[in-house]
Amino acid sequence: MDATRYDAVVLGGGAAGLSAATLLARSRRRVVVVDAGEPRNAPSAHLHNFLSRDGMAPAELLAAGRRELAGYGGEVVEGLAVAVKHAERGFAVRLASGADLSTRGVLVATGLRDELAEIPGLRDRWGDTVLHCPYCHGHEVRDQPIGVVGGDNRPFTLHQAALVRLWSDDVTFFPNRIALEAGERERLTAWGVRVIDGDVARLSARDGLTVELADGREVGRKAVFVGPRFVPNDRMLTELGCEVGDDGWVTTDASGRTSVAGVWAAGNVVDSPAQLVSAAGAGSTAAIALNHHLLAQDVERAGALTRA
Ligand SMILES: Cc1cc2nc3c(=O)[nH]c(=O)nc-3n(C[C@H](O)[C@H](O)[C@H](O)COP(=O)(O)OP(=O)(O)OC[C@H]3O[C@@H](n4cnc5c(N)ncnc54)[C@H](O)[C@@H]3O)c2cc1C
Repeated sequence: MDATRYDAVVLGGGAAGLSAATLLARSRRRVVVVDAGEPRNAPSAHLHNFLSRDGMAPAELLAAGRRELAGYGGEVVEGLAVAVKHAERGFAVRLASGADLSTRGVLVATGLRDELAEIPGLRDRWGDTVLHCPYCHGHEVRDQPIGVVGGDNRPFTLHQAALVRLWSDDVTFFPNRIALEAGERERLTAWGVRVIDGDVARLSARDGLTVELADGREVGRKAVFVGPRFVPNDRMLTELGCEVGDDGWVTTDASGRTSVAGVWAAGNVVDSPAQLVSAAGAGSTAAIALNHHLLAQDVERAGALTRA
């Protein structure tokens, strides 16, 4: 298929990507969003902390975003982008369908993957009664018996064990694979968090939600919080040569500009704590910077044509 020429290709159509693309479309840029359609919060029934959208279904927010984008002439291609390469006048984006898109600039908003601990029964309840973000779900389980189950992300989970106590007086921390230092145990206990040691064997549906320990003990909870390992979907950025920081994440400046000219990134792909509204904001900021980059090219080219 012939390459199709765009001012900007946005990879990922979540909050960050759709916000970015809409701003670019309103700036009269030819923009397309390539989206695989698996936003990170899809398992949740409702979203929160997005001004004026409280309680909306995640899919509804994105459907509204797509409608707004279409209203300004922005396009959406459903599917997976598999490669981005430098090309003569910008970049070539290869889709899994085999199609190629040609573009002057790229904005990557492909989000991250939550890698969960391999505890039977945990994945099935992800986004329902197994949660990771008290800001997203804490209010809905306030004053209920809450558990926090340790996995691979030690610092995040320890912080979480203390944090969820803001929503409930009945918090039990199951360190599971996390070895607690004496001071950590003491501080959590003093803060009112009960600590139950031992391997967690599974989560079951008995009495709502039960944490079953390997030694046979069972503790009923309304919900459990876990600390997933956050893995950015950044392969296309790293393959382009974007600089990666000591923490293993692609680095950007405050506008989302990567170390590769013409390539911006926004949302969870470069910022794991970003919430929906901050991912949307980052997308908007990156889109403005990308538009200014395109403008500089436009003005330069106009000058060159005049001189010719
Ligand atoms: C269970 C759960 C509940 C949450 N609840 C809330 C909440 O209530 N409020 C809140 O503010 N935040 C919530 N969050 C966080 C929220 O999901 C993120 O802040 C938000 O999704 C980040 O937006 P994003 O655009 O960066 O990434 P995403 O929303 O994940 O969007 C990325 C998009 O890129 C696509 N993609 C990935 N790779 C490719 C590729 N190669 N080609 C094409 N497309 C690709 C994906 O399919 C996806 O559609 C929740 C998170 C989870 C896990």
